[in-house]
Amino acid sequence: MTTILWLRRDLRVHDHPALDAARIGTDHLVPVFCFDDRLLHGRHASGPRTQFLLECLADLDRSLRARGSRLVIRHGRPEAEIAKLAAETKADAVHYTGDVGAFARDRDRRVEQALGIPVHEHPGLFAAENLEAIRTTDGNPYTTFTPFHRAWSGSPRRRPSGAPRALPPLPPGLAHGAIPELGDLGLHQEVEEPMRGGETVGRERLRRFVSDRAAAYEYARDLLAEDGASRLSPYLHFGCLSAREVEARVPSHEFRRQLGWRDFFAHVLLHFPGNAQSEHQARYRGTINWSRAEKAFEAWCEGRTGYPLVDAGMRQLRHEGWMHNRARLVVASFLTKDLGIDWRWGERWFMRLLLDGDEASNNGNWQWVASVGVDPRPPFRRLFNPARQQERFDPDGAYVRRYVPELRNGGAHRYPPPIVDHQVARQEALARYRVAASSG
Ligand SMILES: Cc1cc2nc3c(=O)[nH]c(=O)nc-3n(C[C@H](O)[C@H](O)[C@H](O)COP(=O)(O)OP(=O)(O)OC[C@H]3O[C@@H](n4cnc5c(N)ncnc54)[C@H](O)[C@@H]3O)c2cc1C
Repeated sequence: MTTILWLRRDLRVHDHPALDAARIGTDHLVPVFCFDDRLLHGRHASGPRTQFLLECLADLDRSLRARGSRLVIRHGRPEAEIAKLAAETKADAVHYTGDVGAFARDRDRRVEQALGIPVHEHPGLFAAENLEAIRTTDGNPYTTFTPFHRAWSGSPRRRPSGAPRALPPLPPGLAHGAIPELGDLGLHQEVEEPMRGGETVGRERLRRFVSDRAAAYEYARDLLAEDGASRLSPYLHFGCLSAREVEARVPSHEFRRQLGWRDFFAHVLLHFPGNAQSEHQARYRGTINWSRAEKAFEAWCEGRTGYPLVDAGMRQLRHEGWMHNRARLVVASFLTKDLGIDWRWGERWFMRLLLDGDEASNNGNWQWVASVGVDPRPPFRRLFNPARQQERFDPDGAYVRRYVPELRNGGAHRYPPPIVDHQVARQEALARYRVAASSG
C-alpha cells in the first residue's frame, strides 16, 4: 500500500494529524510539496516569505530523512502534479491538512476530482479542531470576537501528539526532486534580517518563550521595545508549529486569546470569502472616497511620514519582514485614517514583506483597523494618535531609535516633518466615514 501526504502549510512532524493518519498501515509514504506558480507569482507574491518557506522545507526534509523518509518536490498545478504522482506510485489514498481560503479550498476540490482515489482532509492549522462547526445558537458563523471567543474556548480540542520515531520509506526508484533556490523561482530576498524558517528553529523559539517570557506576556506584549511577544507568527503561518500544541503549552490566558483571534479571522474568511476583495460591511463597499496619493503611500511604505512610531514600524517591516503588533495597529490606522488610503494598498504591501503574511489574519486585521470589517466599532475607536501611542508604548523612545537612526543622538534635524497634521486628518477621516455610511 502507498499513501501520499500532500503538504502545504503544515511543515512539521510534531502534532500532525494528516501525517499521523497517512503513515499508519502503509508500506510506502510519499510526503510531497508542490510549488504552484499561481501562489508564487500571484497577488500575494513575496520573496521574503518564500525564502522562509524554502527554509521550512529544508528543515522538514532533514526531519523526514532522520525518520527513514524524505521530502518529494514537484512544481506545477497540484491537480495535475498530485494526480501524476498518484498514478506513478499507484497510491491508494491522499491525506492533507484542510485550509480556509477560497483559492485553497477550490484547489483542493479540483485535486480531489482529478484523483479518483480516497482523499482525506484533516485538521491541523488551527487551535480549535473544527472552525466550521463553531456557530451561533442560530447556526450562523460569528462576526464579533467576544462571543466567538467564548464558543471557541469551549469547542473540541485534540490532545497534541509527538513526532513519529520512524516513517515508511518512499516507493523504490521514485524521483524525489530538489528544493529550489529563491532565485530559481524568480523571486528575491527584500529584507535584511529575517527570522530563519523551519520547525527546529520554531520549536526552540517556543521553548524559550514558554520558559522565559510567557509569564510576563500579558504585561509586556504591548511594549514596543521589549521583546515581550512571542514572534511565533511565521512559524504558525507555515505550520512549523501546531497552533494546538502551542495553545496547550503556553501558560498564559492572554496569549491563548490571541490564538483565538487567529482562529477567528480564519473562521471569518472561511465563511465570507468575498472579504478577500471587499469590505465585510456592505455600507462601506465602494462608498468610501479613498485617496490615491501615490507619494504619500510611498512615504508610508518607506517609513518617511515624519511620525516616528509609524516610520519605525514600517522600517522594522522592511528590515525584518515582521512588525510588532502595536506598530501594525498604528501604521494601519495611519494609512487608512490619517492618509485616507485604501486598506487594500496596505494589505498588499504587508503581504509582500511579512514572513507571517496570512490571507485570513492580514485581511481581517486590515479591515478591522480600517473599521470596515467584522467585529465593528465606530471609526474613531480605531483611529490612533501616533504620538500618544508612542508615549504609552515606547515611553523612552528605544523602539523608535532602533529603527529610525536619524532620531539617534539628537540628529532630529535630518528627520522629515509630518506629512499630515494628525488632528486635521482625524476630522477629515471621521467625515469620510460619515458620508460613506449615509450613502451606503
Ligand atoms: C494591520 C495588521 C495586519 C496583520 N497581518 C497579520 C498577518 O498577515 N499574519 C499574522 O499572523 N498576523 C497578522 N497580524 C496580527 C498580529 O499583529 C501578529 O499576529 C503578531 O504581531 C505576530 O507576532 P507574535 O507572534 O509575536 O504575536 P503574539 O503576541 O506572541 O501572539 C501569538 C500568536 O497569536 C496570533 N495573533 C496575535 N494577534 C493576532 C491578531 N490580531 N490577529 C490574528 N492573529 C493574532 C498570531 O498567530 C501570533 O503569533 C496583523 C495585525 C494588524 C494590525
